[in-house]
Amino acid sequence: MADSIDGNVLASKALAKFGVQHMFGVVGIPVTSLANRAVSLGIKFLAFHNEQSAGYAASAYGYLTGQPGVLLTVSGPGCVHGLAGLSNAMANAWPMILISGSCDQKDFGRGDFQELDQIAAVKPFSKFSVKAKDIREIPNCIAQVLDWAASGRPGGCYLDLPSDVLHQKVSDAEAENLLIEAEKSRIKNGEGVASLEISKIEEVASLLRNAQRPLIVCGKGAAYARAEDSLEKLVETTGIPFLPTPMGKGLLPDTHELAATAARSLAIGKCDVALVVGARLNWLLHFGEPPKWSKDVKFILVDISKEEIELRKPHVGLVGDAKQILEKINKAIKDDPFCLGKSHPWVEAISNKAKENVSKMEAQLAKDIVPFNFMTPMRIIRDAILALGSPAPIVVSEGANTMDVGRSVLIQTEPRTRLDAGTWGTMGVGLGYCIAAAVASPDRLVVAVEGDSGFGFSAIEVETLVRYQLPVVVIVFNNGGVYGGDRRGPEEVDGPYKDDPAPTSFVPNAGYHILIEAFGGKGYIVKTPEELKSALSESFSARKPAVINVIIDPFAGAESGRLQHKN
Ligand code: ADP
Repeated sequence: MADSIDGNVLASKALAKFGVQHMFGVVGIPVTSLANRAVSLGIKFLAFHNEQSAGYAASAYGYLTGQPGVLLTVSGPGCVHGLAGLSNAMANAWPMILISGSCDQKDFGRGDFQELDQIAAVKPFSKFSVKAKDIREIPNCIAQVLDWAASGRPGGCYLDLPSDVLHQKVSDAEAENLLIEAEKSRIKNGEGVASLEISKIEEVASLLRNAQRPLIVCGKGAAYARAEDSLEKLVETTGIPFLPTPMGKGLLPDTHELAATAARSLAIGKCDVALVVGARLNWLLHFGEPPKWSKDVKFILVDISKEEIELRKPHVGLVGDAKQILEKINKAIKDDPFCLGKSHPWVEAISNKAKENVSKMEAQLAKDIVPFNFMTPMRIIRDAILALGSPAPIVVSEGANTMDVGRSVLIQTEPRTRLDAGTWGTMGVGLGYCIAAAVASPDRLVVAVEGDSGFGFSAIEVETLVRYQLPVVVIVFNNGGVYGGDRRGPEEVDGPYKDDPAPTSFVPNAGYHILIEAFGGKGYIVKTPEELKSALSESFSARKPAVINVIIDPFAGAESGRLQHKN
């Protein structure tokens, strides 16, 4: 057909037209041409070694930018690997789309190359999925997945592009028409944002005003909603202490005088009214139940998801966007203002407890312990990060002990600057998150602080860092295994394979820094405070891909970090 385009070109045109700026993925049959055409239309394609890592990148990109992260994979096994990212997006409520090529429709069921019923495979891990069965459906399908991913509670969506559809052709004129029609349909797609429940705002203001021990809990949903300014106004006008969830850290600076982070047990154990904004009362918040919370606490939940509110049955539930709702609450409070003030017994109690806990931790951090425990290098990293000022780097954190210690020690001063294992406790996200963070926030340095186990899941992606010259410094806490050394008791080491390495062990003192050097990046191995300080100073100012291999005492951490009771 003269002046015609195929499905690959039409899909790329639709992605570009609908605002996609970055794609992550691994190419191959039948999507290589799609990726190449997308690049030619101005979309930056981040080519990974493994779809799992690329999928984690796409999920975090959705969180950081508010635009669905796009993962492109090949059919069958490529799609299955991509499910890791899609499921992670769903679990964390982040917008992402997975686009996979699939086998020829006419050969499906006959054992075609990489055949899989991909629509069935993605079902548990997506909020919406669609197959383009004809080239003419492509633009509208792309509009639909993009809209569904970002509307209502964000999440993962899937688009299936069969090989035969990618090779069909339409005329240029028809393609243009299809793109225009799909664009027009966009506002109609998706769930739409629930309307604000204005009538309840007064009730919320009154609950907060009359509470003896109010608390504001802010999660990554509030960060996603860019609610930081409204949250700051609420906290500062009312003087109510706030507690961020791990990724809510930075919405307000950790150093804020009303931060209850270092007095978490007291804050959640004793508060009588808790305004929870963009955070689920799931395992991370102990389900909002005793013994961690008081049985009489009145929860006010603010969430974009009606289902979430219905599930938790709070005292008051407000369905809607966190930023918009906080603005309404601020307005209601302005009409009849109140402020607890520093000498309010509740504020004072939280502040005193936080100071006490911080000074205990600082006493431990102050010691230079060599061979390194977790605390000494974490303090040095904290200070080096703080010295960078603004824009603060994005910190990516994973691993059991490394993440737990990092959460307490590292200081977040700006919103959306912390990415960690998240709602699902997903390990292996580190390198993908680093790559997403570097492209989503090009003005920021990215610093990963992760365990050797977390790093190992996708360590080969250091090549991707080097290839794109991303400003990412990966600090590996190398304690020789999952949780560290062999901690088995005598009863666990009996049996025919007792001389094999423990299931938790890796090769001790592995040279992870050499991995990045294989590709031309910069590697450091450090065992002392001076060596670490020098590596951080050099790599932070170079803003080039680097791996700092920090050798840690294999017995310094705890098994399972802070979740021993679950292992
Ligand atoms: P955290 O891990 O920080 O506790 P969660 O992932 O458990 O946070 O919860 C985030 C919540 O935020 C989800 O229930 C999600 O529906 C909600 N959410 C997402 N976007 C918005 C938004 N724009 N406004 C309010 N809530 C939102």
